Amino acid sequence: MSLTKRDDAHIWHPLTQHQTASPPLGIVKTLGARLIDQHGKSYIDGIASWYTAMFGHCNPYIIQAMTKQMQTLDFVMFSGFTHAPAIELSEKLVAILPDNQQKIFFNDNGSTAVEAAIKMAIQYYDNKSQKRDTLIAFEDGFHGDTFGAMSASGLSSYNGPFEDFLLKVKRIPTPQKDNLQQVLSALKTILQTNKCAGFIFEPLVQGAAGMKFHTPEGLDALIAICKAHDVVCIADEIMTGFGKTGTNFAVDQLQHKPDIMCLSKALTAGMFPLSITSCTQEIFDGFLSDQVHKGFFHAHTYSAHPVGCAAAIASIELLGSPDILKQQDYIAKAHQVFAAKIQQHPSVKQVRCKGVILAIELAVEMERYGDLRNELYEFFMDRGVALRPLGNTVYVLPPYVISNQELDTIYKAIQQVLAHYNK
Ligand SMILES: *Cc1c(COP(=O)(O)O)cnc(C)c1O
Repeated sequence: MSLTKRDDAHIWHPLTQHQTASPPLGIVKTLGARLIDQHGKSYIDGIASWYTAMFGHCNPYIIQAMTKQMQTLDFVMFSGFTHAPAIELSEKLVAILPDNQQKIFFNDNGSTAVEAAIKMAIQYYDNKSQKRDTLIAFEDGFHGDTFGAMSASGLSSYNGPFEDFLLKVKRIPTPQKDNLQQVLSALKTILQTNKCAGFIFEPLVQGAAGMKFHTPEGLDALIAICKAHDVVCIADEIMTGFGKTGTNFAVDQLQHKPDIMCLSKALTAGMFPLSITSCTQEIFDGFLSDQVHKGFFHAHTYSAHPVGCAAAIASIELLGSPDILKQQDYIAKAHQVFAAKIQQHPSVKQVRCKGVILAIELAVEMERYGDLRNELYEFFMDRGVALRPLGNTVYVLPPYVISNQELDTIYKAIQQVLAHYNK
């Protein structure tokens, strides 16, 4: 029986309306920037499997590190015990994170990293006998699907049934060139009229919203105001982290550094579910007390899994290697050349790039083309390119190891899409 048939018997897929969705495609092998399906057809992974597999699928260097780790120490509880992989990873992270990030808390996925960050911010003030009950977040942000993370997310299309159960969140638009004063004054009003614990944001690029950008100057100004009001600033770098935006972290392009950061996805290069909530010494110190309950009583069973830590250590080693730096530079430049080439195309509403991220908003009326997203998805898959368009936005965020030819194949497929819709 085919994988698709067996899948249908028992599997419930994420983000899927099973009554109408086309059956999922069985993938049998991955290698470098390639996915191979059950019929032997090869696809270029144009978004690195949700921006995780940045060093290529089945990267031998990472596999070797994980193999060695799982043969000596598979897993132990992380309360009461510690181990070298977690310690080495904490050292490696602190070395590349902004200077103010000093403490590393381990979780097992992006949403739980955000959940821990939000709980840290709330308890930080509670420990000082301050009840702060409000979070500030951007419109159209995405921070995950657990309750706290879902509350912070402004992309509300999936949150309907849960709206009455969410945390209190006040929203501001992202800062653009033409709206900074309005956004700043909206923030000030929120700060004056609410007891705010934290400001959570995806720095510089909102991924799930359709790879939307905002200005570093604007974000800097917002963080500065929050800091002046003693509000904890939380940078969700789960998408942007580890070299996507032209710097290791998007906040490297800011003057003001966040108090807390959330990392996952490329952290383990698609090899293992693991995530990090890092914070400043000051946040950590806010939990020190003679009273036990002022500690951070939050844990996931698989916290700091040694095999995941080994994958992350190997990934960070690759991140700093000359080969990867060269590839990041090459992809960023290739994106800019391609963007300039298609900018004036009648099917293009807007094209933007930042680092290895390229996003093209199509000038296509959604109504006219019905389910445009699915149509685009199929169009690319037919041409051996795996992308997941967000509405009318096609984006490319390839593994750093992608070859010139593979990147060209993606660009060619995009040009065919543009020609297809230019009628
Ligand atoms: C993917 C993502 C999350 C959620 O991570 P999961 O591992 O899917 O729970 C949170 N924030 C951002 C910015 C993301 O891109």
